[in-house]
Amino acid sequence: MARYVFITGGVVSSLGKGLASAALGALLQARGFSVRLRKLDPYLNVDPGTMSPFEHGEVFVTDDGAETDLDLGHYERFTGVAARNTDSVSSGRIYSNVLEKERRGDYLGKTIQVIPHVTNEIKDFLAVGEDEVDFMLCEIGGTVGDIEGLPFFEAIRQFSQDKPRGQCIFMHLTLLPYVTASGELKTKPTQHSVKELRSIGIAPDVLVCRSEHPIPEKEREKIALFCNVRKDAVIAAPDLKSIYEAPLAYHREGLDQAVLDAFAISPAPRPDMRRWEDVMDRLENAEGTVRVAIVGKYTQLEDAYKSIAEALTHGGMANRVRVKAEWIDAEIFEREDPSPSLQGFHAILVPGGFGERGTEGKIKAAQFAREKKVPYLGICLGMQMAVVEAARNMAGLKDAGSEEFDHEAGKKRFTPVVYHLKEWVQGNHTVARKVDDDKGGTMRLGAYTAMLDPGSKVAEIYGSATIEERHRHRYEVDNKYREKLEGCGLKFSGMSPDGRLPEIVEIEDHPWFIGVQFHPELKSKPFAPHPLFADFVRAAKEVSRLV
Ligand code: GLN
Repeated sequence: MARYVFITGGVVSSLGKGLASAALGALLQARGFSVRLRKLDPYLNVDPGTMSPFEHGEVFVTDDGAETDLDLGHYERFTGVAARNTDSVSSGRIYSNVLEKERRGDYLGKTIQVIPHVTNEIKDFLAVGEDEVDFMLCEIGGTVGDIEGLPFFEAIRQFSQDKPRGQCIFMHLTLLPYVTASGELKTKPTQHSVKELRSIGIAPDVLVCRSEHPIPEKEREKIALFCNVRKDAVIAAPDLKSIYEAPLAYHREGLDQAVLDAFAISPAPRPDMRRWEDVMDRLENAEGTVRVAIVGKYTQLEDAYKSIAEALTHGGMANRVRVKAEWIDAEIFEREDPSPSLQGFHAILVPGGFGERGTEGKIKAAQFAREKKVPYLGICLGMQMAVVEAARNMAGLKDAGSEEFDHEAGKKRFTPVVYHLKEWVQGNHTVARKVDDDKGGTMRLGAYTAMLDPGSKVAEIYGSATIEERHRHRYEVDNKYREKLEGCGLKFSGMSPDGRLPEIVEIEDHPWFIGVQFHPELKSKPFAPHPLFADFVRAAKEVSRLV
């Protein structure tokens, strides 16, 4: 049965709880244990699928098609363990399950209450797959004391009581603010936060304290004394140059040792940190910088394209170069010529997106990349717009466009080279969708197989004839334009196994022009850069030597 580490936060939000959890996962792996990470979010949305990327950052999609919080992306990037549908839950999902059961009569006429019905539902979620791994790390979103979070805190308290002694521990993240006037780190907010936690029955075993300065011995003793935590379980979390330093930094501060001590695991297996040493070596000893323009819509909030930014960094690691990604709002190109802005970039990436705003700008960016022979990677909407560009400017279909925008505008303006898919095959069954289906969870979601054309650039890059990649979209390039577009040089080099859905397009007569209907960025890891990103950055590096 798995040991459980519950990770909570206090004082302020955005302390890097997700990163600390992910780093702890990596450290336990380095000591030879198997891990799984889980996120419990107190908000009432059923899943983050319908939340604005401006507010909530990217939606991370799992192989089994769940739309989850971007923290699951961190978990995967640090542990390499593919997250599942059952690794992310929100209050909204919990309540909707409870209410569904109530309607079905499962509770046999009982009064439905937060305790025990909601807390039981949460506990059932926590227990899924508990026999599969050595450690289950469960992060609770938000901070202690939030009204919405209470049922989760109560559930983890109960869960730890239901289990044998020593099976569950609590790790709490807080902030030690630095007061410049007195030149001191203040421990009071941490004391209050722990007091709050203890008032609901949870005593932390490990305290992780974010601070801009090292924690002096005196302060560490004070925290231990007032918070009822062992001194060596007060872990400093310093600010880092790169998130990928977290495993090594936390290891230096003794986090993994403190966690193993709390479980009384002795002797602790020796850690093998080579993976993270290599990652840091590649980051720190990069030669030169390549500049990549990301022409997108949600450019104000970097978290909206979190996995893309990370995958580019990984691509840089594979080539020992730094990647400087610069975000450009696609809408600008609807008003002005893209050439002055795009000149000087070594590669152009057009990411995924929804809605018409900015798409004409993305089309112009694709055209610039194609004509000027700048490496281009189009992801999802970025692929669709590259196909529209090719249809308009190579195949002469002047009014080519996507049905998505006609659907929004309520009138037909375009020849739909990208159309609304209503029925498709997943594994060995058919999935159907009605036009007016709910907005949530109705896309083609999760991992699908694609067959690569032997001899194509992508087959060479992947080194394989079949691939599995993650999807999240409603619209598809229409295969009926294949012959016409291939005749002009845009090859459909990856297809769904039934040959109906174009998954990859590439231009043969171009140094590097690839559009993919899926999201390769979701599967990239610092210690295993995604082949497409690695090769895209290699192509950019080549250009950077030329200019
Ligand atoms: N809006 C497009 C679609 O639904 C692309 C989605 C995306 O880029 N993730 O097909």
